[in-house]
Amino acid sequence: MIYVTKTYLPNKEKYKTYVDKIFENGWVTNNGVLVQELEKRLVEYFKVKNVILVANGTLALQIAYQILNIRNIAITTPFSFVATVSSLVANRIKPIFADINPKTFNIEPKNIEKVLTHEVEAIVPVHVFGNPCEIDKIEKISRKNNLKVIYDASHCFGVEYQGKSILKYGDISIISFHATKIFHTIEGGALVTNNDEIADKAKYFRNFGIKNEEEIPYLGINAKMNEFEAAMGLCILDDIDIILENNKRLWNIYKQELGNILELQELNPNLSKFNYSYFPVLFKDEDQLRKVQKALNERHIFPRRYFFPSLDSLIYIEPQQHMPLSRSVSQRILCLPLFYGLSDSWLDIIITTIKKEIR
Ligand SMILES: *Cc1c(COP(=O)(O)O)cnc(C)c1O
Repeated sequence: MIYVTKTYLPNKEKYKTYVDKIFENGWVTNNGVLVQELEKRLVEYFKVKNVILVANGTLALQIAYQILNIRNIAITTPFSFVATVSSLVANRIKPIFADINPKTFNIEPKNIEKVLTHEVEAIVPVHVFGNPCEIDKIEKISRKNNLKVIYDASHCFGVEYQGKSILKYGDISIISFHATKIFHTIEGGALVTNNDEIADKAKYFRNFGIKNEEEIPYLGINAKMNEFEAAMGLCILDDIDIILENNKRLWNIYKQELGNILELQELNPNLSKFNYSYFPVLFKDEDQLRKVQKALNERHIFPRRYFFPSLDSLIYIEPQQHMPLSRSVSQRILCLPLFYGLSDSWLDIIITTIKKEIR
């Protein structure tokens, strides 16, 4: 069976060496040495100021909203993984959608301006499939209207924009290190910020709001990453170059073979380094998608309808927030299998099957 992705697992002996260390130390969680080491290595890898590891990307989002004091309304995109929106609603923040650009799949800055009111406190854009948003325009809107920006950069490990890590943008960028992402810590995520004060707060927030033995100045939560997860991250970080290289090669084959017959995501021209972690294709309608999906499934290949459904159709969103562009893309998009270890012969079967079905 071939799924849309396959969790990368590092050399078992190397992982065991870390496990031995954890057993020797007897320290399994609560800001252990491996979590600290991974934070340090990620700061160097991304060339950013602060990386604060947490238990998952969803908690990274929720901690970001709390630190920045977002309480009422935030503008976000309807085309994302559900956690972008559910994390807002779970914190009693009302999401107002701005519809997407149907070519880039990212939030459209013009549509942000259309739904702005003086009650809006923040913008939560997503760099969908690692494709950078129109950062300059979003920064301009946020500065003019005194809004916080929290980028959901869950898909952006290794992505650079104008020669710098994309995680440098916004008040806070968050990233997910879930097992399905290109770099992972089994479960995990991080907040990234240039602001040391925000970084300190994030460290307290992930540990119940505790500052030190005598002070609990914040209403925090438990979002700690443990040592076994950090060990996984440390192992995979050693292998990341070959993982990225492999994805790039497969991605380019897909593009060469399918780029002329299916619509692909339009990438931001300021993208200076991409991670090639997803290969989304857009069909002309949902029937064509289903036809291709069925043919692939019959060959034991299971691409994913990513992202479906469009988030404006969630039961906890008012029905008057209807986003036609997001719904249209959502109904027609499929992410093809792309991961380390996907063989050329499987790739060939996938491409041949798709070509045959859409002819
Ligand atoms: C994976 C993902 C998340 C959630 O991250 P978890 O680590 O699974 O909690 C949030 N937003 C987007 C866009 C994602 O793809």
